[in-house]
Amino acid sequence: MAQRVSIEPQQLIEVHSPATLEKIGEVAVTTPDGVSVVVGRAREAFRVWSSLDFKKRAEVLLAARDNFVTHREELIELICAENGKPRLEAIVEITYVCDVITFYARRARRFLKPQRITPHLLRNKKVTVHYQPRGVVGMITPWNFPLILTIGEAIPALMAGNAVVIKPSEWTPLIAIRGAELLHAAFNSHGLPVEILQIINGYGETGGALVDVAEMIAFTGSVRTGKVVAERAARRLIPVSLELGGKDPMIVLRDADLERAANAAVWGGFTNSGQVCISVERVYVEDAVADEFTRRVVEKTNALRQGYDAVETNTERRIDLGAMTFPKQVEVVEDHIADAKARGAQILTGGRRNQNLPGRYFEPTVLANVDHSMKIMTEETFGPVLPIMRVRDEREALRLANDSRYGLNASVFTRDKARGERIAEKVEAGITCVNDVIAGFGVTDAPSGGLKESGIGKRHGAEGIRRFCHQQVIVTDRFGMKSEIFWYPYSAKTERLLSRMLAVMFSSRIGAKLKSLLGK
Ligand code: NAD
Repeated sequence: MAQRVSIEPQQLIEVHSPATLEKIGEVAVTTPDGVSVVVGRAREAFRVWSSLDFKKRAEVLLAARDNFVTHREELIELICAENGKPRLEAIVEITYVCDVITFYARRARRFLKPQRITPHLLRNKKVTVHYQPRGVVGMITPWNFPLILTIGEAIPALMAGNAVVIKPSEWTPLIAIRGAELLHAAFNSHGLPVEILQIINGYGETGGALVDVAEMIAFTGSVRTGKVVAERAARRLIPVSLELGGKDPMIVLRDADLERAANAAVWGGFTNSGQVCISVERVYVEDAVADEFTRRVVEKTNALRQGYDAVETNTERRIDLGAMTFPKQVEVVEDHIADAKARGAQILTGGRRNQNLPGRYFEPTVLANVDHSMKIMTEETFGPVLPIMRVRDEREALRLANDSRYGLNASVFTRDKARGERIAEKVEAGITCVNDVIAGFGVTDAPSGGLKESGIGKRHGAEGIRRFCHQQVIVTDRFGMKSEIFWYPYSAKTERLLSRMLAVMFSSRIGAKLKSLLGK
């Protein structure tokens, strides 16, 4: 497959729409020296931004939220053109950004309020934990949610008082740039420097240069690159959060509502053409209902419409599936399907590129007769493919669901919700949905992130903003005595006293004796 992006002598990246393959823009590559300059400016802007209180920062970001609402039609068209997804899914991206601004604008002060601690031992000290912004947070992001994972990711970091520098994917830089402009308009109207949030562009080299100068890195992308970024960050001992890949299992038990389960599997597997870190990547269905569940899934898959609908039309029915953004991902999908076929899998529908459309489209695909000897059940496919495996019972489903190096998301379908929640607790995943799919990401209130190779750190909730802060502890002496018992000069008397205190406080035998003496 021809590469649609090239570096020209002037170091430009051409951006082509995966839906039409037409050139829709270009961006200049930021050199490593350029990255240092950008981060230097961000550090200056940080001084101004971090000195504002939460109310003021919220006011600025809420003004930016209005810009996102006002410009939504333009944003929808750009997201569709650059990423290839359907209009409805582009609306979800804008909604997320507006919601995350609302969420943290209202709660940042509470999440980051200094916490008073009463020490259990040193009672004569007043102790408070403060959350301080880290400085310049670098973000390195992928192409599948080009607005959510750039501007959306930046919001909690900004609310905490940091300056942010984002290196979006070289495949989808335009939407991040436009999103940044809408934030800049809000900074400008409040007399603030636009360098509070900046975009740099380029490939791995530019991302690497950012790791070398930022105070923290929030990385979203593949496990392979995540490890490279973490190793590079380790050289400077800067904190990293890693939101990486997944191979999310869906378990369908015999007592499930099969209609809801089939609808969930089809949407959960194919939304954004399956290019979702928390999409349904593999299904385990109990033998007793496997035929009926599979029949419904195939029927619903065959009813899906694929195409490009960036511009609003008068027709009522829209497309369901768009294009695939990244050419190499299509090759991964083809490789996984070929490997599964060679090992005995059956293609029930789809299985190839959609040649009737001009762009990079892959037909929604359902596979049966799959097992864990196949890449399709063990490696992240990240495309519109739904492999369905029959299992004997709940135990086997759970064993296979956990037989993975990933642990991002999962789902369980059963009419018995209590049973579903019990099973969910045993699934090795950051979020498990019962009778739902992908929904966890929409719950901005709850931490979202992965286990095992799916990453380190959480977005959303209190953790989602605290990760962009360092915890500063302030200990204040309460009584102002001239000296403390363990300060100089050391003497045999204080040594005996401390030794006796040690025994009284920590010896179980003495403790029991004291209790019996006191009649407790
Ligand atoms: P990728 O790892 O190839 O690239 C991600 C980013 O890293 C890009 O901006 C890229 O330019 C940059 N990069 C590449 N090499 C680098 C290097 N050596 N140093 C620094 N930066 C470098 O991932 P992708 O193909 O863009 O995205 C798909 C992956 O992202 C999938 O695995 C998916 O599961 C994952 N993802 C995870 C989440 C999550 O929240 N867990 C969300 C979305 C996507």
